[in-house]
Parts: sequence; C-alpha cells; structure tokens
Amino acid sequence: MKKNKYPNYKTKCGWNSLLSTYQSKPILSDDITSDVVIIGSGYTGLAAAKRWFELSPDDSITMIDASTIGEGSSGRNSGFLLEIALANDAKSTSLKKLIKCNQLISRTIDKIKQATLTASLDCKMHRTGTYRVAAGSSGLKSLLNYQRFLEASKLEHKILNTDQLNELLGTTYYRQGLYTPHCYLAQPAALIRSMAEQLPPAIQRYENTPALECLKSKSHWVIKTPQAKIKTKKVIIANNAFCGKLGIGSHRVATIYTYAALTEKLNKESLSSLGTDNNWGILPTHRLGSTLRRTIDGRLMIRSLYDYDKEDNIKSISKKLMHHLKMRYPNLPELNFNSVWSGATGLTLNGAPLWGEVDKNLYISAGCNGGGVVKGTLFGELLSDLANNQPTPDIKKLFGQANWMPLDPFREIGFNFVSIIEKNRARAEI
Ligand SMILES: Cc1cc2nc3c(=O)[nH]c(=O)nc-3n(C[C@H](O)[C@H](O)[C@H](O)COP(=O)(O)OP(=O)(O)OC[C@H]3O[C@@H](n4cnc5c(N)ncnc54)[C@H](O)[C@@H]3O)c2cc1C
Repeated sequence: MKKNKYPNYKTKCGWNSLLSTYQSKPILSDDITSDVVIIGSGYTGLAAAKRWFELSPDDSITMIDASTIGEGSSGRNSGFLLEIALANDAKSTSLKKLIKCNQLISRTIDKIKQATLTASLDCKMHRTGTYRVAAGSSGLKSLLNYQRFLEASKLEHKILNTDQLNELLGTTYYRQGLYTPHCYLAQPAALIRSMAEQLPPAIQRYENTPALECLKSKSHWVIKTPQAKIKTKKVIIANNAFCGKLGIGSHRVATIYTYAALTEKLNKESLSSLGTDNNWGILPTHRLGSTLRRTIDGRLMIRSLYDYDKEDNIKSISKKLMHHLKMRYPNLPELNFNSVWSGATGLTLNGAPLWGEVDKNLYISAGCNGGGVVKGTLFGELLSDLANNQPTPDIKKLFGQANWMPLDPFREIGFNFVSIIEKNRARAEI
C-alpha cells in the first residue's frame, strides 16, 4: 500500500459525484509572488482566505490545493455539523470552558448557514439533531458519561430505548440511544463548493497544484509546486492530515484514512421500513464506531474503519462497510452502494488541534480529529486574525494543543496496537 505525500485518492468522492461537474481552477504554471499563500482549500483554508481578505483587502492572497474543491476531505466527510462538544470531550469538570467553545462553534455554524442561503447549490443543511447510540457495554458506558455531561450543562436531550430507536430509525441493533437537537446535517460536497463559490474573486486560486516544499529564506518563504514556485511573506498551512508530509507538525499530526459509502436511492418499500425519521444522523459512542446517515433523498450512508497513513483496497473496504450496514438493516431487501470512498483525517494524540504560528510568518491549523467542518472554519478564520495581528481567543486554553508523538515506525506500531485493543472493546459499535 502506497503512502501519499498529498491527497491522491483512488476513489472519487460520492457526495461530489451527485453534483454537476465542477470546472476546476487552473494549475499554477508560472512563478509568482504573493503577500500570503494558503495551502489547502478545505474549510480551514477557505475560512482563512475569506477572513484575510476582510482584514487586508489590498494584500495579494493565493490559495493552492493538491486536488479540486469537493474532492478533498471537506467534501468526503459525513456532513455532521455539531453545535456542541463531542462525547469524548464531555467532562462535567470543564463545563465553563466547553460553554465558551460551544459559543464560538455555534457562532461559526450561523455564518456557515448564512453562506448556504445565498449559495447556488442546495447544501441540504438542516438542523436535524443527532442520535448517539450504543450496541454494546462499552458504548453504554460512554453514553452514560455523555448523558451526565448533557445534564450538567442543562442541554436538551432525550434517552431512547431499542423500541423507540426502531420506530425512528428502523433498526433494533442498538440497545440505547440519546438524541440531542444540537447538530446540522448537510451535503458536504455542496457545502464546500458553496463556501468556495462565495470567495472574493480577487483571491487567486490554483487547483491540482500540491505544495511540495515550504522553504524558509531570510525575509520570505518559497512554496515549491510541481511546475512553479511562489515567493511569499506569510504562509497558512491548511492541509490538515498532510501537514507532516511538508515537514510541518509531523510530530503532532498523523494521517489516518477512514471510509464511507452511500447507497443508491432506496425504493418506497425499503424506505417505509426505515422508521419515521426521514433525515437522520447517527454518531457512534466509540471513536472506532460507525457513523450512519439516512439522507433526505432516501439513501443510507455509512462511515467506518480506519487505516494508518495509507488507503486500503477499496473492494475489500466496500464488502466490510456493506457487512456493517447489513448488521443494522438485515431485512432491507436491496442494498447497493452507489459509491465507496476513502478520506484522510488529521489525528492528534490528545484530540486537540495544532494551531498557531509555528515558525516566523508560518501559521498552521491542522489535526481535525475527524470533526473539522465547523472547527476548521472557526480555526481558519482565527488563524488569519492571528497573522494580521488581530486579537484572538486563547485557542490553546480552550481547545487544548496537540501533544507530541513519536514518528514511524513507533507511531505506526502504536496506532496498530491501540486499534486492535480498541476494536475488540468496541466491536459492537463498529
Ligand atoms: C470520511 C470522513 C468523514 C468525516 N465526517 C465528518 C463530519 O461528519 N463532520 C465533521 O466535522 N468532520 C468530519 N470529517 C473530518 C472533516 O472532513 C475534516 O475535519 C475537514 O475536512 C477539515 O477541513 P480542513 O480544511 O482542515 O482539511 P481538509 O478538508 O482535509 O482540506 C485540506 C485540503 O488541503 C489539500 N492539500 C493537502 N496536501 C496539500 C499540499 N501538499 N498542497 C496543497 N494542498 C494540499 C487537500 O487536497 C484538501 O483539499 C470526516 C472526514 C472523513 C475523511
């Protein structure tokens, strides 16, 4: 299996293929100079670019991406936009801090929502809420922890038993669930395309243009791409899982691949057996568990499985994903995947982001830990504030900072070792 230096996926993003063909931006073919270069045009990069333009409209702003909009993880994700902290962050001892984080997050969601209102694409962004579900004992324990956090925070939630879950979601697989209204679901590829569409045209964008190296000289930085170089005063690294491949943050962020699949549209009979909720999202109670969605246009989506630093064979992944879906829906007569794809996430040891100025005039926001649609947007915007000497909240204090990790081979051994133990512990949630 090949390790990629930048995203070079073997599969197309399923969400993106449901949209009209995208006209990609040009490849950078001539050397240029720019006041700032943003590497990566996912949620983080786009938010950084937009904010930079608001703060310094006379600066030349250049954004490069190894791929095209919608084909990166920003389009490949499951489309959950969470308004509140995830279960694994939920400690009733840090309530005050979490409330402040949640405020920043919900302010960001409002901005994203506003952007979708004027977008040419339907981002299918709805405040559906989300179900957190447990099928085994480790899941039940984690659900109880989350329930305590929600109670302590006085956040609305509802406990659901197997029968209630079956009525809503059409599956008896789960032993208990917890519904909270604090989540939006969206079509992620439509969402990222819409965010890009709304960037000021003065921002120069290049696609299929990976940064190969970031070289520091006395007064500036040079970004090398396959065909040309960019000389710049400041750099924003917004390539998330791949920052380490540029030699930046490699001790803090690891590249982890995960996989998703979307079924064909289900027929009426299948849909009627799926319960009364027609647009839902299920989040697992264990970090290795499966995420599921029923989309508003009548498809099921499953996201599951992880690999360290390389993509597995997609045929075998497809079989495994179908197996996990069928475990939940054994009676659905016809289940066929329309698409199966992989996506890279930036994992940090303690789940905290790598954020801030890491070298003179070199800024980074990376380490999404599988939940960066909203946080990426927030952190990207704040990174431009920081680089333009604007006040910013204390991100390190609020969201923590990514811990140091060893490099390979120790990291890979560690990941695989922990995976085996955790997979065993959370078998029912996968
Ligand atoms: C299958 C899957 C499901 C997920 N589900 C969710 C979810 O439901 N909710 C949620 O909040 N998060 C989810 N995530 C995580 C989410 O996708 C990320 O947190 C989010 O995309 C982070 O945005 P970003 O802009 O920081 O990074 P990315 O979206 O990864 O964007 C980085 C960009 O940098 C580009 N790039 C990389 N290397 C280079 C280089 N050398 N030169 C130039 N460009 C480069 C890439 O092409 C990419 O476009 C999921 C991720 C996956 C893979």
